[in-house]
Amino acid sequence: MQEKPYFCPNCRSNRVKFSMISSFSQSFLKDAISGTVQEVTEPQRIDETEPTIQCMVCSFTGNEMRFVKQAEREPRAGTPANPAYY
Ligand SMILES: [Zn+2]
Repeated sequence: MQEKPYFCPNCRSNRVKFSMISSFSQSFLKDAISGTVQEVTEPQRIDETEPTIQCMVCSFTGNEMRFVKQAEREPRAGTPANPAYY
């Protein structure tokens, strides 16, 4: 996850509340006849190169880059995206 401001490209009102959607893989063994689950392993998180972010206001879900790009296009007034330039 990047240390950059986010701005929801869908509702354009949220820069603060987000959730990260991640995928997990969990193996299990099934009984071939009864179909019951015999053995379950610990869930393993699947590392994605770019996390999927969900806006907690409108539930829009998209790649992190969409939120970062939107924040770069429309930086919050009075809050410079990069304070080093000021
Ligand atoms: Zn939103």
